[in-house]
This record gives sequence, C-alpha cells and structure tokens, in this order.
Amino acid sequence: MGKRLVLWDVDQTLLDIGRLGADIFATSFADCSGLTGHTATRGPGRTDWLAFDETCLANGVDPAEEAFRRFAAAQEAGVEARYAEIARFGRVLPGVPEILRRCAEHPDIVSSLLTGNTRRTAELKLAALGLDGLVDTALGGYGDDRRDRPELVGVARERVQRATGTSFTPDTTVLVGDTLNDVRAAQLGGARIVAVATGTASAADLRAAGAETVLGDLSDTEAVLAELLS
Ligand SMILES: [Mg+2]
Repeated sequence: MGKRLVLWDVDQTLLDIGRLGADIFATSFADCSGLTGHTATRGPGRTDWLAFDETCLANGVDPAEEAFRRFAAAQEAGVEARYAEIARFGRVLPGVPEILRRCAEHPDIVSSLLTGNTRRTAELKLAALGLDGLVDTALGGYGDDRRDRPELVGVARERVQRATGTSFTPDTTVLVGDTLNDVRAAQLGGARIVAVATGTASAADLRAAGAETVLGDLSDTEAVLAELLS
C-alpha cells in the first residue's frame, strides 16, 4: 500500500461552530472597513481571502492584499477573543476524533488541513473543541495562502514535500470536505475527494458535482479509513 496525503476541511467537516464564524467575520470586516453597516456575502467553502474580496466588492471597498492581511489578523484576534464561546457552543462532528487519531497513528498517512480558514484560526477552532494535536497543521493549505481554493492543494503538497521529502500526486492526495468548493478544489487542484454530507450540500449535490465518494458523516471509522487508503 502506498502513502497517502489526507487533507481535511475544517468547518462542517470536522466541527461546527454555528453562527459564530459568520459573526466574527462580520465584526472584523466592520472594524477593518470602517463601515457602520455592510452587506454580507455568502458562499460555503470559500477561502477567507476570497470571502473578504467578495465582501469588499459587494460594499464598494477596494480589496487590496494589505487590507486582507489586516482583516485576517483582526479575524484571528476575534476568534481568540471568543474562544470560550467556541468551546461552549461549537461541536465536533460524529466520528471525527476517532478517524483523526487513526490517521495520525497510521504509518502510511500524512494528515493535515486544507481549509479556507487561516492556519491560526483553524488551530484555535481545533483546540477549542479538543482536536488539537491530531493533524500536522504546519503542512496544510490555508485561506490566507491563496484566494482560490484549488491552488491550496499545490501549496499543501509543496509544504509536505519540503518537510518530509515525500512527493504526493493527484492519485495519492485525498481531500475530505463538505462543500461543492471542496469537490472543485480536488478536481482542479489534482486530488481525490471524499465528500461528507455534514454541511449544507446534500449527498446528491456532492455527487452531481462529481464526487465519486460521498459519506453521510465520518462516524464509520473503518469505512472512512478504507476510502482514504483506496
Ligand atoms: Mg467546510
């Protein structure tokens, strides 16, 4: 059996923090833009960078990269400030601690994240819900690395190559995610996709987008592991 690089999405794949994420985004955007009221934009599975740009454009604000960097720092501070609320109101999705533990222990699996969150935000969310230490966050692809999610696949593979010396290919890289954007990231970025219907997209939506493997959730540890290694 060959090695696998498994890259997990965070929100609605590993955990769910409800409205808190959108609230923190909106507060940080208001603080950074100086707007007293702004129109929110939607799009599950966007990177933070793309969500920031789209929100800027919807509100007549210039989406400059340095403005995004300031926003990202403000948002990370917001997540830190509301850490206790995330711990209290957030929830870990079914089967997640078990499958992450199995992947962390598996000699043929490198396990990290591919998420629209920044690395710091992702680490805070995981820690708040007791999932820290189960993936190697230094190796992933994040929402402040690139605007376009498919490009994060290459970013993560390069980090893994540099850190471990192992080159993963589209056949040996697996994304696990809940949105059509996760499916698209796999298709365009070059990876297999294991889609989970724990977000707003239904299993039928995910299949129609081209996901060959769609699971209801991650609770059947042996079945998930078999898919990751297949
Ligand atoms: Mg997600």
